[in-house]
Amino acid sequence: MRSVKVEEFCQQFLHLWSQATNPHLQLFKQDPLHAKVDPAQAESFIETAKSIGKQEARWYREHPQELQGIIDSLKINELPEAQAQQERYTFAVYKKTDHIMIDRNFLAQAQHFIEAQQLSRLLPATTLTELVFMHEVFHVLEYRKNLWTIQRQLHYQIGFLKKQARLYSLSEIAAASFVQTFYQLENSPTLLASCIIYCKNPELAQALVTTALKEQTIHRSY
Ligand SMILES: [Zn+2]
Repeated sequence: MRSVKVEEFCQQFLHLWSQATNPHLQLFKQDPLHAKVDPAQAESFIETAKSIGKQEARWYREHPQELQGIIDSLKINELPEAQAQQERYTFAVYKKTDHIMIDRNFLAQAQHFIEAQQLSRLLPATTLTELVFMHEVFHVLEYRKNLWTIQRQLHYQIGFLKKQARLYSLSEIAAASFVQTFYQLENSPTLLASCIIYCKNPELAQALVTTALKEQTIHRSY
């Protein structure tokens, strides 16, 4: 396997950060149910999820005490190591309805990496730990307020069976949009996953960036 060069990774990541036009569509495509949604409807779902995240972020920026009240009411602790070490890297977990587990060591290591690589300028007002924490706080909000992302059920049919299910990617899109607006980031925090993972698994981080860049090119050529 070709070894990953950190300079190359950072260059490609910065390119992705400045070029990625619709990272939320990529997130939606990872939803196990995405193929059951027609493209026009998918677009409107994504837009709605984004605007809900944005709207909540704007409101809580203006009402910091309300936000602090919610944070103070939560149970927050460290993510157990066994859970953090599963193959797909987990930085934090939201447990219904008021419990957040976060891997602070992992995120501190990642923060150290982005600072060393001069990437932390992309997050002028925050840190990776805060970003990830606020992402989970959005999941608390969406449950407490029963937001559209929770209510939205996809109705579909398999043979004679009528089914309905939640599109979890919409919650993720709204959470990303919430964090992006709250901290006024230039692009979606979902793109930062590769930077967080880099210190544990450079090959996977590089593969994520390469794939994302390829998909953006495909997306723009239509
Ligand atoms: Zn989430």
